[in-house]
Amino acid sequence: MPNLVEENLYLGDLNDAMGLKSSNEANIKFVFSIGIFPTLGKISSLTYRHIEVADLPSEDLLSHFDSAYEFIRESQSEGAILVHCYHGVSRSATIVIAYLMKRDDLGVQTAFDRVKSARDVISPNEGFMHQLALYQRMRMTLDLNFTPYKLYKLKRLSQIVKDVRLVPSSYGELIKADPGLTSNRPNPNVYKCKKCRRVLFTLNNIFAHNRGVKFTWKCQEDGVPPSDSELCKEKIFIEPLVWMKDVKTCPSGKLTCPRCNFKLGSYSWIDYCICNCRTKIFPFFYITPSKIDFDIVVKNVQVTV
Ligand SMILES: [Zn+2]
Ligand SMILES: [Zn+2]
Repeated sequence: MPNLVEENLYLGDLNDAMGLKSSNEANIKFVFSIGIFPTLGKISSLTYRHIEVADLPSEDLLSHFDSAYEFIRESQSEGAILVHCYHGVSRSATIVIAYLMKRDDLGVQTAFDRVKSARDVISPNEGFMHQLALYQRMRMTLDLNFTPYKLYKLKRLSQIVKDVRLVPSSYGELIKADPGLTSNRPNPNVYKCKKCRRVLFTLNNIFAHNRGVKFTWKCQEDGVPPSDSELCKEKIFIEPLVWMKDVKTCPSGKLTCPRCNFKLGSYSWIDYCICNCRTKIFPFFYITPSKIDFDIVVKNVQVTV
C-alpha cells in the first residue's frame, strides 16, 4: 500500500501503481511516475504523468520540480494523486519534498521530516539532497538568472555535449543573447574587445570565483570563502554567449572576437580549466583580462573607465 502523506497525496512504489484499479479505496485518480521503466497496465480512467529520471546522484530531477508541483497541485484539488518511482524511496520522495517546500514555504529539513513521518523508508540520494538545497536557495522557483542554477544547468549540458558532441536545441536558453546588439543590453556594465571595441559581455554574464575556493553550485558548509580569500581576476570566466561561434557544435576551442577575430580566450565543455589561482572550473569559457576593456554604457553616452 502507498503511504498517505496528507489528504489526497500518496507516496509509493511501482507495485502500488501497477496494483491500482479504476475504482480504488483511496480514490486515486492521478499518477505521477518517475523512472526509466515503461508505465505498464495503465487504466484509462486515471490520468498519468511520467518523467524519465534514473535514481543516480548525477541525474537532474531539479529541472522538473516546478512542473511536478503544478501537476500535483492541480491533481490534489480534484482527487487523490499517487507519486511513485520504483521503490518509493529516493526519486518520488524528492518530488514530494520539493512540492511541500514550494507550497508551504518550508526548508528542506522540515519538508523531509514531514514526508518521513508518513513513509519511514524515504532516503533521497545525495545528489537529490543537493538539488533540494539549491531549490531552497532559489526560494522554490527555478531561476536561470541565479548563478548556482546556471552553473548546475551548464554542468548537466556539458555531460550531454560530451556524448552527442553538440548543444541540443532544447538547451538553447543556456547560450545567452549577444549583449553586443543594442537591443539585448540589459546591463550597462560591459566588457569590450580591446582591439575593435565591440561589446562582448556584461557583468551579469560573469561567473566570479574566489582565489583557491572550490567553485561549485552546491551549497556546502565549507563553501563560505575564508576571510582572507579575494575575488580572482587572473581569468574571467563567463557563461556561453551566442557570438561564440563554435560552442554549439565543437566541444572545445578558442574564443575570438566576432568582429575582428582577435583571440580572447578559450572554452571547453569536456575538460576543466585550472585558473592561475588553482581553482578548477568546469565547463569553462574564459576571457584573458588583457584582451578586453571595461566600459559603462549609459543610454547613448559611453563612459570609458
Ligand atoms: Zn574585436
Ligand atoms: Zn582564479
